[in-house]
Amino acid sequence: MKAHDGMYIDGAWRPAAGTDTIEVVNPVDEQVIGRVPAGTAADVDAAVRAARAAFPAWAATPPADRAARLAALRDILVARKDEIAETVTAELGSPLPFSQAVHAGVPIAVAGSYAELAATYAFEEKVGNSTVYQEPVGVVGAITPWNYPLHQIVAKVAPALAAGCTVVLKPAEDTPLTAQLFAETVAEAGIPAGVFNLVTGLGPVAGQALAEHPDVDLVSFTGSTAVGKRIGATAGAAVKRVALELGGKSANVILPSADLAKAVGVGVANVMSNSGQTCSAWTRMLVHTAQYDEAVELAAAAAEKYGDRIGPVVNAKQQSRVRSYIDKGVTEGARLVVGGPESPREQGYFVSPTVFADVTPEMTIAQEEIFGPVLSIIRYEDEADALRIANGTVYGLAGAVWAGDETEAVAFARRLDTGQVDINGGRFNPLAPFGGYKQSGVGRELGAHGLSEYLQTKSLQF
Ligand code: NAP
Ligand code: MG
Repeated sequence: MKAHDGMYIDGAWRPAAGTDTIEVVNPVDEQVIGRVPAGTAADVDAAVRAARAAFPAWAATPPADRAARLAALRDILVARKDEIAETVTAELGSPLPFSQAVHAGVPIAVAGSYAELAATYAFEEKVGNSTVYQEPVGVVGAITPWNYPLHQIVAKVAPALAAGCTVVLKPAEDTPLTAQLFAETVAEAGIPAGVFNLVTGLGPVAGQALAEHPDVDLVSFTGSTAVGKRIGATAGAAVKRVALELGGKSANVILPSADLAKAVGVGVANVMSNSGQTCSAWTRMLVHTAQYDEAVELAAAAAEKYGDRIGPVVNAKQQSRVRSYIDKGVTEGARLVVGGPESPREQGYFVSPTVFADVTPEMTIAQEEIFGPVLSIIRYEDEADALRIANGTVYGLAGAVWAGDETEAVAFARRLDTGQVDINGGRFNPLAPFGGYKQSGVGRELGAHGLSEYLQTKSLQF
């Protein structure tokens, strides 16, 4: 795999300040496929200075011209989509068809949506005797995880650039090659030097330096709750804008009137997809007691079919973390129906698709984010019980409701403490705001709501 031995700062690949490197490992065969520099506070500082210097001109660039650069970026992502998919597959391990459709496909849709939004958004409006301007917040520090390596980057960088902000990105240490490829596409798109900058490195070093940098105006972070809380505290102390996307424990609520086979089938696929490494995955399936046994059988069959088609999880640490959650499920008395903690292959960070039945709402596997291909099926007695269970975690990122009648499903969804709900298998919408209630986070990504995160308002009175 192609790897740059440098940081993308101020429009060029520049040598890192230090000499440490990060090995990039293919999780399918555990082979080292590349090395990138491990950035330090000095690299972050150089990148932030470049972003600051580029900010006034980019902020003053007419939105239509920013839109044109984003449209060019989208076109280059389209032209290089095979290379993107191969790079994500090499460093994340996801099967190539999934990398093509989702890891390459979704960022193209999101970049396209911001090319359009930049051109059409009302950056200026009249309110009585005032004119209200939407102005860019400034320099953005973006810290992204590995689970959707390119999507997580584009979901921050595209709206930031559309708004007129400049960016320093610190991508996950496990997936820096996709980030370097993205930096190449930014350069090809003719986005001016300094508007986008990339510093690869470790979270507690480069990530922390970026989150703490006094000249960063907004920190946008996606990842674990533990790190998110620290970043939120740091930003709060500096009176700095912050956006946090911290994962979830979402419920797939199957009401008795639903098409059970469809709801279970789509629900299992939702959890197993991307090896369970999706923050919005519906990892708790809630089924009425009268349909419980049938649902468990259907889920077991669906998960078994997944068997060999599933990729590994990203690294050895995540593999052992997921396996220890499976152990915990067994210890706490849940019934293992499919899968289990044993590694299904000798090589690679694989975890078997796993289904637990007889999971009670208080169990660890029903409360904590596992981030692996593990489904918990929970029984409910009536609708009030289902609602209490669905809302009974610290998270509130996503969810699903299935019912024979759409109105019934919508009424239930409106009572869920969560940011996104799919009704009867509703399709992904790149313009729909994405983000969490409760401890799932602060702020929204995607669409116009995602754009407004990177704007601040100024009003002039006449
Ligand atoms: P993580 O450490 O929170 O990683 C997210 C990003 O934050 C990475 O770029 C990471 O760098 C960086 N980071 C780590 N420590 C930092 C610090 N002190 N200051 C600033 N940035 C820092 O998450 P993880 O360790 O990869 O995964 C652990 C768990 O988090 C998962 O099992 C899952 O439950 C959750 N998670 C959630 C999402 C989501 O989409 N919400 C995504 C990934 C993981 P490094 O890559 O160098 O660590
Ligand atoms: Mg980490």
